[in-house]
Amino acid sequence: MTSDFAPDLAEFRAEAASWLNHALSTEFPNLRGVQNHLDHIEERRAWERALGDARWSCIGFPAGYGGRDATLAQQVVFAEEYARAQAPVRIGHIGVELIGPTLLAFGTPEQKDRFLPDIAAGRAIWCQGYSEPDAGSDLAAIRTHARLNGDRYIIQGQKIWTSWSMFADWIFVLARTAQGSAGRRGLSFLLVPLRRPGITVRPIRQITGEAEFAEIFFDEANSRVADRIGAEGEGWKIAMALLGFERGASTLSQQMNFRNELTAVIAAARARGRLADPLIRHRLVDAHIGLTIMRASALRMLASSAQGTLSNAGYTYKLYWASWRRNLGELAMDVLGQDGECADSDGRFHELTRLYLASRADTIYAGTNEIQRNIIAERALQLPREPRGP
Ligand SMILES: Cc1cc2nc3c(=O)[nH]c(=O)nc-3n(C[C@H](O)[C@H](O)[C@H](O)COP(=O)(O)OP(=O)(O)OC[C@H]3O[C@@H](n4cnc5c(N)ncnc54)[C@H](O)[C@@H]3O)c2cc1C
Repeated sequence: MTSDFAPDLAEFRAEAASWLNHALSTEFPNLRGVQNHLDHIEERRAWERALGDARWSCIGFPAGYGGRDATLAQQVVFAEEYARAQAPVRIGHIGVELIGPTLLAFGTPEQKDRFLPDIAAGRAIWCQGYSEPDAGSDLAAIRTHARLNGDRYIIQGQKIWTSWSMFADWIFVLARTAQGSAGRRGLSFLLVPLRRPGITVRPIRQITGEAEFAEIFFDEANSRVADRIGAEGEGWKIAMALLGFERGASTLSQQMNFRNELTAVIAAARARGRLADPLIRHRLVDAHIGLTIMRASALRMLASSAQGTLSNAGYTYKLYWASWRRNLGELAMDVLGQDGECADSDGRFHELTRLYLASRADTIYAGTNEIQRNIIAERALQLPREPRGP
């Protein structure tokens, strides 16, 4: 997993590896290898703060906001070492990778000062309020609205599938601020404190048996006008830029972790004598090839000046990694055989069964495979728009 992309970064790599391994062996031994989003939440809050204290949380942020001004190569190296150390999936992800870069690109100096240091220090956990019951793929159909009242917006409406909102401190909300508007016009991008009167978070249980996401009801909830990113009515532009970060560079660390998942599938196949099966071998080799292609694709996208925009590379990348991981989940189940379908006496499934179940969502969130294909058809291949239904 060593990056040939940055051979001159040995010292930086050693410093990152040393800090991660020390922290995970001393203060946070329970967190090594934790993949599940809901396990050990309080410890993982402490982990986010520890990363922040050591300035390993948001290394790409400017130093003035708690980052390290890290180069692209350093960010790749850190992501590799993070995965190698089997550090936990980050509950700070949405703040660090989505709203942080969006604030850096579009926030006012006051907004950057107000929000970025808390994200970098692990003090504020964020979640994403885009989807609504009748607005998922067709995001522009959102109905949650916000009306101006002095220096506040009063928000009314509902969001759904909001990951990690059960423990997040803040949410960014795409809301309709122009009364009577429709589609992409009249939307604004609001930053809203989540633990306030007028906001109810109701968890939704998913296929894994856990509730990693929730529906959120806003009933006269309020946010400050000063916490709107971009001008009133410019919400669509900001929301799409954030999606560019979400579908692109933000998945770097997740992708480095795919290598660990493939290694676990190979180990399970070895333990069960399945490595002699030519079809299993074939699929393992294909998975390895897919990882190699993904890595090259990620580096190409990260190095591009179009980072954070929905570039052609970004469209294919999301579709590719999501399909790759869904296939890995299916391979894992074929390797496990019946073991994969039985829970232990505590009702817990094998880690690879959890991978399989969780991977079913990869081709849905951040834009479904069908939507990614439509976008590729229209924007990359210049095909005519798909016919709309009646
Ligand atoms: C695990 C998970 C976490 C999530 N976390 C968040 C979150 O934190 N914040 C948030 O805002 N949202 C989140 N989402 C929601 C996610 O973004 C939506 O589920 C997704 O955009 C699809 O929207 P939908 O569920 O309304 O499905 P729909 O849009 O109703 O789609 C249903 C099916 O129809 C297909 N379809 C729809 N339109 C077209 C079309 N024009 N052409 C071809 N096929 C089409 C879709 O591909 C899909 O297969 C999460 C979802 C999951 C599964």
